[in-house]
Amino acid sequence: GYQRVVIENRTLYNMVQDLKGNIRVYCRIRPAFSAAAKNVVDFIGDDGSLVILDPLKPKKDGRKVFQFNRVFGPTATQDEVFKHAQPLIRSVVDGYNVCIFAYGQTGSGKTHTMCGPSGGSTEDMGINYRALNDLFQMSNRRKDIINYEIHVQMVEIYNEQVRDLLTEDFSTTKYPFIFRQIRSCTSDNGLSLPNATMHSVKSASDVLKLMKLGKVNRAVSSTAINNQSSRSHSVLTVHIQGKDTSGNILRSCLHLVDLAGSERVDKSEVTGDRLKEAQYINKSLSCLGDVITALAQKNSHIPYRNSKLTLLLQDSLGGHAKTLMFAHVSPEGDSFGETVSTLKFAQRVSTVELGAARLNKESAEVMELKEQIESLKKAVANKE
Ligand code: ADP
Ligand code: MG
Repeated sequence: GYQRVVIENRTLYNMVQDLKGNIRVYCRIRPAFSAAAKNVVDFIGDDGSLVILDPLKPKKDGRKVFQFNRVFGPTATQDEVFKHAQPLIRSVVDGYNVCIFAYGQTGSGKTHTMCGPSGGSTEDMGINYRALNDLFQMSNRRKDIINYEIHVQMVEIYNEQVRDLLTEDFSTTKYPFIFRQIRSCTSDNGLSLPNATMHSVKSASDVLKLMKLGKVNRAVSSTAINNQSSRSHSVLTVHIQGKDTSGNILRSCLHLVDLAGSERVDKSEVTGDRLKEAQYINKSLSCLGDVITALAQKNSHIPYRNSKLTLLLQDSLGGHAKTLMFAHVSPEGDSFGETVSTLKFAQRVSTVELGAARLNKESAEVMELKEQIESLKKAVANKE
């Protein structure tokens, strides 16, 4: 009956995930701010290849080729981008931990992908909002089999300090509000930050309210440290707990991370707080890269403990967890250096090998499974 079809459908989703490996890297190129600026993008392939050109070199010398799981060009919509993250979101309700990151230099579109433009319409909403809505729908669809509860937390990590972004009384007087303790997600009640405010969410409007609160608090915090939010990482954590009819409990979490800007700071030009800040950002982003690379290479030692960020996310990175990184780049010629360093970083953490043969075979299998999923979905819809 119904239940069996649903479970088969889920199994197929997971098979698609497993076929693709547990670490995926997508690249997203934002639209150019001005049509007049030199654009570095030369070619975007359907297979995830990307060719960029150094604006200062002749075409044959300045070509750089990269290979990712997918590349979204400047015309890609929020909806299209979300569709390719959706299978991961769906595996959260099956008990998988998932982590989605936005990486890239300031101004490359990280916040656009995760949150959407400020004051935008629902159509412009980013992954955070869409993911939660999807989770509501999925849990509702299964409500006869499993009773799901969804809670969210949101914190910011600035200079290796963690602050609650969803407290109602976040203020400059109480600031900084720091957690010194980060626990493993699997301990106790499954919370890595047991003291950070936890909100139950049941609807899209709950989510919108909390996102607004998070944004206001991040702005307060940003003013207090006399800096922009681009210097801190923000982590929205969604906790899912499902209880089936025989009382079994399924727990998982989804981390949605808008990382600090990855731009390199010229150390000769900054001193004091700015220098310290740049060093912290550098350290935590390179720790994140080290952790993902170690996971991709299946190393026995994974250096989670080297930064607060990786410590906080450790149960959602590696093991049976699924990771997706969006590498954001700006298309303008004057960002070329940063673009290359973002793409190199992303290529390093990617499990995709250059050379398309293996990939094509894989995508044929994935396509086949996708078709099976679609027909199963129809079968489920007819049963409903
Ligand atoms: P970041 O968070 O990486 O600093 P933002 O997301 O704030 O960058 O993007 C910088 C600017 O570019 C914003 O005004 C944003 O609305 C715009 N932008 C980024 N990506 C896109 C996109 N895909 N389509 C349209 N506008 C975008
Ligand atoms: Mg931003």
